Amino acid sequence: MAAQLIKGAEISKQIRQEITREVEELKDKHGITPGLATILVGDDPGSKVYVGQKEKACNNLGIYSARTDVPAETSEADLLALVKKFNADPQIHGVLVQLPLPKHIDATRVIYAIDPDKDVDCFHPVNVGKLMIGTGRFLPCTPHGIVELLRRSDIATEGKHVVVVGRSNIVGKPVANLMLQPPPGGNATVTLCHTGTKDMAMYTRMADILIVAVGRPKTITADMVREGVVVIDVGVNRIGKTPEGKAILAGDVDFDSVQQKAAAITPVPGGVGPMTITMLMKNTVEAAKPS
Ligand code: NAP
Repeated sequence: MAAQLIKGAEISKQIRQEITREVEELKDKHGITPGLATILVGDDPGSKVYVGQKEKACNNLGIYSARTDVPAETSEADLLALVKKFNADPQIHGVLVQLPLPKHIDATRVIYAIDPDKDVDCFHPVNVGKLMIGTGRFLPCTPHGIVELLRRSDIATEGKHVVVVGRSNIVGKPVANLMLQPPPGGNATVTLCHTGTKDMAMYTRMADILIVAVGRPKTITADMVREGVVVIDVGVNRIGKTPEGKAILAGDVDFDSVQQKAAAITPVPGGVGPMTITMLMKNTVEAAKPS
């Protein structure tokens, strides 16, 4: 039987309605308009699209958006000065520098320069540390989106075996962390696989919930999962173009075969993808709330 589809687009819409109400309340009760500063260095087409989507989301939700585009040859010192300016701006509650950055700029130094209270991407080591301890005010956007997808689809993680494939700082490590936190965290037993894992299928076959973030299409095939597994496919891979020139996207999971065995699965596109920017908006509103 085909799996239940976990529809991120619908869940994201529901959360955006909640955010809109929160924004109105902040404006009415406290006279605060949440503000997000996005900085784009250079003209990478993918980054341009992402920044444009963030700007549009802000506009739709009543969040003030301050977008700054600077040329690729901008010096690290100038970029740091821009970050510092937004750190000090009371109209701005979230500061986001779109990654990747040109090679001459040290991305770590830039991330460290963002005020942790405005670090709505949750990449600053202070926030990464708080996430590990379980006291984070901000949760990283894609992992938080995954938590919400599961929660709002009534898929419990408590006591389950969650297997995460991929150990990036943006997805794999933080989502594994959220899943292992005691209640109200995921309270799951977590296995984290990566390229150093021997016989990965042995672990993926043991998963009650399988979260895949590797960036390679068809990494997970039907023989690697058990009947009834819940699959969260984070991957976004461009595998071709339509005759009209639009990118054809695929996840990291061989959707057609795996959905025959899974109890529930996220599609690509329309699964995890729509959640990421929504959770960024949520963090921006969170950052604007009076403490
Ligand atoms: P990343 O930084 O490239 O990390 C990929 C991870 O997967 C690495 O830890 C790597 O292991 C591991 N890996 C790669 N091939 C593997 C294999 N065959 N077996 C086991 N592990 C393997 O990627 P990322 O930033 O986490 O992104 C992963 C995917 O998710 C990409 O397609 C990306 O576009 C997508 N993504 C989507 C969203 C969204 O909003 N939907 C957000 C972020 C990312 P090693 O550490 O050993 O190299």
